[in-house]
Amino acid sequence: MAKLIGADCRQCRREGCKLFLKGERCTSKKCAFERRPSLPGQHGSARKRVTEYGLQLREKQKVKRAYGILEKQFRRYYEEAVRMKGITGENMLSLIERRLDNVVYRMGIGSSRSESRQIVNHGHITVNGKRVNVPSFIVKVGDVIEVKENKRELEMFKQLKGMKIVMPKWLEFNSETLKGKILALPTREDIDLGIKEHLIIELYSR
Ligand code: SF4
Repeated sequence: MAKLIGADCRQCRREGCKLFLKGERCTSKKCAFERRPSLPGQHGSARKRVTEYGLQLREKQKVKRAYGILEKQFRRYYEEAVRMKGITGENMLSLIERRLDNVVYRMGIGSSRSESRQIVNHGHITVNGKRVNVPSFIVKVGDVIEVKENKRELEMFKQLKGMKIVMPKWLEFNSETLKGKILALPTREDIDLGIKEHLIIELYSR
């Protein structure tokens, strides 16, 4: 299976913002972006002229890297968003946000999106009682997301018991029962990272 490669912290420095790819480290003093926010490489701190195309491209790369999505699949989200009613950019972000690996991350089950993707890949998650091991699975309102019953004694899940988890209002998760629910579809306000989605739409509409 194809995957994104490259040092995680380098990707944050390249995109000029924190992408939160390394779990707890991202909120600690060890965060590489906090310590050295300049572009990576020998000429990282040199000022460069950025074209309109460059800006659009960087915005797309930022979102792809934050969510760990490859180009082909990312473009599919755009195409599906175009077919949906409403604002294309918001539709696209909402679709991406509804990926099962992202939901597992947002619920606090995994400490980063990549860890959450692994949790899903390994078959530790059920949706409405059925095991789903596809990270790109798109959840819908009312879906019940659970850690599989026979996996709850794994150390990584035992650690969650009783933990207070802050999550977006469109989700609910009980850290005692390891069971959660999709309460609503994510709105634009629920999606952080300071994404300028209009730049991505402009890029794909060229
Ligand atoms: Fe990015 Fe900092 Fe996390 Fe590294 S530790 S992935 S630089 S947010």
